Amino acid sequence: MLESLSALQERRFDVLVIGGGINGAAAAQHLAAEGYSVLLVEKGDFASAATGRSTRILHWGIRYLAPEKSPWEFLRHPIGFLKKFRESLVLAREYEEFRSSTPDYLNSYPVFVPFFKNGGVSGWQLDIAALLLGARRKSSSTNYRRYSGRAARDLEAARLIRDHSQITQLLEFEDCQFAWPERMCLDALLDAQRMGACIRNYTRVSGLEYRDGRWSALLEGGDEAASANVWASAIVNTTGVWVDELLRMAAGNLSDKPTQKAVGIKGIHFMAKLPPEFDGKIIVGRNRSNTQLSCIPWRGLHYFGPTEVPYQGDIENVSPTDEEVTFLVNEANHFFPGLGLKMDQVRFAWAGVRAKTYHPEHSVGDPAGTARIHDLSLEGLPKLFTLTWGTINQHRLTARRLVEAVKGVHAPSGKAKPLSYQASINRKALLAGEQKQRSGKLDLSCIVEIARTEYPRTLVDILFRRVDLAWGPFLSGDEVRSIAEAVAPVLHWNAERVSTEVESFVGYMRHQHRYEVPMSAEEQQSDDLSSSARNIAL
Ligand SMILES: Cc1cc2nc3c(=O)[nH]c(=O)nc-3n(C[C@H](O)[C@H](O)[C@H](O)COP(=O)(O)OP(=O)(O)OC[C@H]3O[C@@H](n4cnc5c(N)ncnc54)[C@H](O)[C@@H]3O)c2cc1C
Repeated sequence: MLESLSALQERRFDVLVIGGGINGAAAAQHLAAEGYSVLLVEKGDFASAATGRSTRILHWGIRYLAPEKSPWEFLRHPIGFLKKFRESLVLAREYEEFRSSTPDYLNSYPVFVPFFKNGGVSGWQLDIAALLLGARRKSSSTNYRRYSGRAARDLEAARLIRDHSQITQLLEFEDCQFAWPERMCLDALLDAQRMGACIRNYTRVSGLEYRDGRWSALLEGGDEAASANVWASAIVNTTGVWVDELLRMAAGNLSDKPTQKAVGIKGIHFMAKLPPEFDGKIIVGRNRSNTQLSCIPWRGLHYFGPTEVPYQGDIENVSPTDEEVTFLVNEANHFFPGLGLKMDQVRFAWAGVRAKTYHPEHSVGDPAGTARIHDLSLEGLPKLFTLTWGTINQHRLTARRLVEAVKGVHAPSGKAKPLSYQASINRKALLAGEQKQRSGKLDLSCIVEIARTEYPRTLVDILFRRVDLAWGPFLSGDEVRSIAEAVAPVLHWNAERVSTEVESFVGYMRHQHRYEVPMSAEEQQSDDLSSSARNIAL
């Protein structure tokens, strides 16, 4: 059960976690397991911001060792290199841990990364990096392999790439794709709730004040038109790209405001049907602006991305623009010259803004390291911890680090409990998507049960974040309506609300994902056929 706002009025918690993306969810889960009383609030739906809009890759650490300038950088900046190396090692361990604890949420693929002349990296450096990260151990699941330029030219993956005769080295290793980060976030929240945490979506923190050794927070509850004041001994600010807004709110009338912590970097992706030569592999290259360009399989289609551009626009409404999609399609066609993708072959697209750590000299964020926890007591805001650049792949590690930070200022009021990393507490959520993929049929009873127990407010919440149906194989308008009608009784929707929800879902798919929901299954099939791709002549 969600606590009502009135039931929360004047309640005291050890920790208030603000932001219900993957990092807030994991923090709430790990804090509850440590014995803290926790309240987590999210102003929209859980996992509806960056967590639901990523490239979905569980990186194995080697990519973080790639030199930004010259391969000899580490001789000039040995401490920086050692820090990077330590972080990569930790990520490599997280990667192995995730693979063994939660395999149900991972799709694993061979990844091909070509290096060209003047690419700044030689074979022995790659081998040493792999050796240091443990990829060459027998127990490693990364299947690391390095091909010389000559050997690489015989590989199908290499022959798809522009200038493949110029490839000097090619790496092949196994990386994983998160099948469904939104659901991982929800699972962590439900596990936190099982351990006693209170969680609430559609609840915004709209005021913060430090009084009498505690934080007082004003919560406002969306269309409930209600508010409540709660108390917390410590605050964890996991609001992603909103972290600075929250800090300004917390600073109130402090004369010295906290310094900027995050910079928003927008990234987009698009999906298309590619020829069979692309099946079953991830290919990672670089676009002409020298940022990464990945081509990744997804349910019979492939997606390309991400772009990486500083973003100053409206963070409440982020969608891929024509210009951005055109740019990415052109880059995909440039890197894979046989592809010849046209704009009308783009099936689906999405955009997100990640909160990288602010750096005054780097417009796309601090190049050093990944997740950073800022202790704001140094800037006049005691017992307040803020996260920047917390990725999905290290959310559990970040959560453990946040628990350590909180422990330094406040002891848990309760007893520790065992947490669970088991994939979906609610197996039905997984089954709804799987069944649709296997048989093409919808299990409406399962969707109704989830709508009843997992706090969705809208059809978008259900289809994107409760059951795995919005990301394809895509639903027809008839199917969307049948789901809305099925969940209507448990969500107390009348006929008018059902129609509004269907229209909102169709509008959301159009504006946020550039996808026109076909009205019927027949229309859907002809749409699938017309966007199929031809074979590439290798
Ligand atoms: C294009 C792109 C590609 C990426 N690729 C990868 C990848 O391949 N692998 C990987 O590991 N990571 C990737 N990431 C990064 C990853 O998605 C994010 O860093 C991560 O999801 C951030 O999670 P979070 O919980 O910190 O923030 P978010 O998911 O952004 O959640 C923050 C939440 O705080 C809420 N909030 C804000 N203000 C308030 C308030 N006042 N009150 C209550 N709630 C509030 C927001 O509504 C939001 O839901 C990518 C990100 C992008 C954008």
